[in-house]
Amino acid sequence: MKSEIHAEREFAELFVITMEECAELIQILSKIQRFGLDQNNSEHLKQELGDVYFMITTFMAKGLISEEEMWECSLKKGEKLKIFSDLFKDSSEDL
Ligand SMILES: [Mg+2]
Repeated sequence: MKSEIHAEREFAELFVITMEECAELIQILSKIQRFGLDQNNSEHLKQELGDVYFMITTFMAKGLISEEEMWECSLKKGEKLKIFSDLFKDSSEDL
């Protein structure tokens, strides 16, 4: 069984790496906004999305959130975006 100190250090490392990966994702998204989505930026974006996705799955693997909780939170975000964003707006509503 892991000691409490070991668990705290493990979580601290998980949080820092996740912050770094989120920052890298933000950076490439900003670069694409400024310079466009060329082949190189597209590949970079895919890698950073994969990096963040891996960190999210690591949160589940370490028991910080269950797959069910993650799914529930994801659905809540989807519902909010339906109200506050056009991302998931039905295109037939434009008619
Ligand atoms: Mg990265």
